[in-house]
Amino acid sequence: MDTTKFKLKLETERQKLEEELTRVGRRNPSRPDDWEPQFTALNEQSSSQDEMADKFEEMEQTLAIQTTYENRLQEVNAALERVENGTYGKCTCGKDIPLERLEADPAASCMCGS
Ligand SMILES: [Zn+2]
Repeated sequence: MDTTKFKLKLETERQKLEEELTRVGRRNPSRPDDWEPQFTALNEQSSSQDEMADKFEEMEQTLAIQTTYENRLQEVNAALERVENGTYGKCTCGKDIPLERLEADPAASCMCGS
């Protein structure tokens, strides 16, 4: 199987995800695959109730975005690992992943949901 174009797609996506993650958080210095959300500090003395509520909403959103990107990055990294060790196109359950699924999403699994 020719993995060249899938590898390119995966690497491009990984780069984008890392850029996005850098925007909402920072890389854990001791665990490069782990990202921590970064929030602007709350100033409780000068913040009104409304400002606090806005802030918490913003924090929740940041956390949700960060979780989404981080999960996706893990999938992309796992797929790139399969490219490297020559098992790309095989699902973790052992079945072949249909090519049209890989065309649509280069980090896809087969229909098993793993
Ligand atoms: Zn599977």
